[in-house]
Amino acid sequence: MSATHYIDGKWVSGAGDDCITVYNPALGEPFAELVAASPLQVDQAICVARKALKDWRDMSSARRAAYLRGFAEQIELRRESLITLQMENNGKPRQEAVVDIDDAVATFTYYAGLAERLDDEQNSDVPLAVTGFNSCTRVESIGVVGLIVPWNFPLVTSAWKLAPALAAGCTVVLKPSEITPLIEQTYGHIADVLGLPAGVLNIVGGKAETGAALSNHPGIDKLSFTGSNAVGSEVMRSSAKHCRPVTLELGGKSAILVFEDCDVDQAVEWIVSGICWNAGQMCSATSRLLVHDSIANELALGLKSAFEKLRMGNPLLVEIDMGPISSHAQWSKVRAYFDIALTEGLQCLTGGKLLDSPGWFVNPTIYVDVPLTSRLWTEEIFGPVLCTHRFSSEAEAVALANASHFGLVATVISADLVRAERVANALEVGHVWINSIQAVFVETSWGGTKGSGIGRELGPWGLSSYQSIKHVTRCLD
Ligand code: NAD
Repeated sequence: MSATHYIDGKWVSGAGDDCITVYNPALGEPFAELVAASPLQVDQAICVARKALKDWRDMSSARRAAYLRGFAEQIELRRESLITLQMENNGKPRQEAVVDIDDAVATFTYYAGLAERLDDEQNSDVPLAVTGFNSCTRVESIGVVGLIVPWNFPLVTSAWKLAPALAAGCTVVLKPSEITPLIEQTYGHIADVLGLPAGVLNIVGGKAETGAALSNHPGIDKLSFTGSNAVGSEVMRSSAKHCRPVTLELGGKSAILVFEDCDVDQAVEWIVSGICWNAGQMCSATSRLLVHDSIANELALGLKSAFEKLRMGNPLLVEIDMGPISSHAQWSKVRAYFDIALTEGLQCLTGGKLLDSPGWFVNPTIYVDVPLTSRLWTEEIFGPVLCTHRFSSEAEAVALANASHFGLVATVISADLVRAERVANALEVGHVWINSIQAVFVETSWGGTKGSGIGRELGPWGLSSYQSIKHVTRCLD
């Protein structure tokens, strides 16, 4: 097996117990194999990251920024091969894989811009109410960070962590998902090309054992995790054991609220992209449709027709609108929810079954007038499965949207912009779109309230999550 882990600027073979098979989900067939990094290799990666920390942190922020710009340029140079790999390993339609490349490039470029100003902004005087003292704030790197990511947007989720961490002067150990372990290797190859100092970026692939070795290790100063609530809770426990900070980007069960004054055809487009983009495998999937009673039937007809027009297939061979589910395990999970819907007696408007083809496809699915107690209404499915429920007043719509353990995002669709703003203010989530697709910009924040996580990524908040504040106070007498 080839060397697939990047430790101390060198490529090494895995020495762990787990063997990882990488699949093409459109065919359900394997196309690569690798051996996971062992806990000892995770330990080595953390030790070399610690050794590299001082020089990286003390380097001028302008030089760190130049490396980040190099990452952006090198991703751009690898555009075609990265698009192909995401189509092959994630099953993404080409147009969605393109968006991921653009997003990763924008993220490194943006944090290069913030890094360029860091040295100038590192020290700032604090006005004191008393005399005889002087104090200043120093913004410093938080240290060695562990980054654990899932498989649904591997290139992007890793960029959202790597770029601000490196900009802030942290050294990192990144653990990609076992389902998409090849995509992040690109970051190691780029580090080689750029001559990034050894130990600044380390990549250790593997399953839960490798992730746990990283999150439990006493040698990291912070952990940033994106993934499921179940694992997030374990990661939080290990951070609690060491009393150190953690950022958690977890699941969602987000609402899309559609009011009676909307343009129904336009609403259909936004609803479809909110649940079928990436085959619904989005933490931010707006999987709970709240629709005003007066337009519920008309909207359902429009949605049924739009869902049934979506083209599915192998993105490497044909032009498609929606790809397969990325892993067999996730495909089985979606299938299990179809069975639960049958048991619960839900009314299926379209879909609710697997596609009769090789690969891990499911039909985009709508259940209408779903009871609020249904498991499909309350639990994250992570597939193209939309549940609808009617409301008759704005207050009821807001209350239903907020009645969730999660609080990641929401979308509001209404021609009345005053109302849309009012509703946006009342929603208990981290991001609201008004009359929009789920456009995510690197300058705005990403993260949730309630069970959807702790902390924010992107924007200046993403950078500050890798920084530590120190005050230096002098007695002037
Ligand atoms: P997951 O929690 O199963 O895995 C995430 C990562 O954690 C993987 O790299 C995995 O190998 C690792 N891991 C597994 N067990 C571990 C352990 N015991 N200790 C440490 N690491 C461990 O999640 P997934 O199935 O890869 O991703 C889907 C989930 O991610 C969904 O719930 C989705 O909502 C969430 N997600 C959230 C966001 C966000 O920004 N809020 C973005 C994308 C995905």
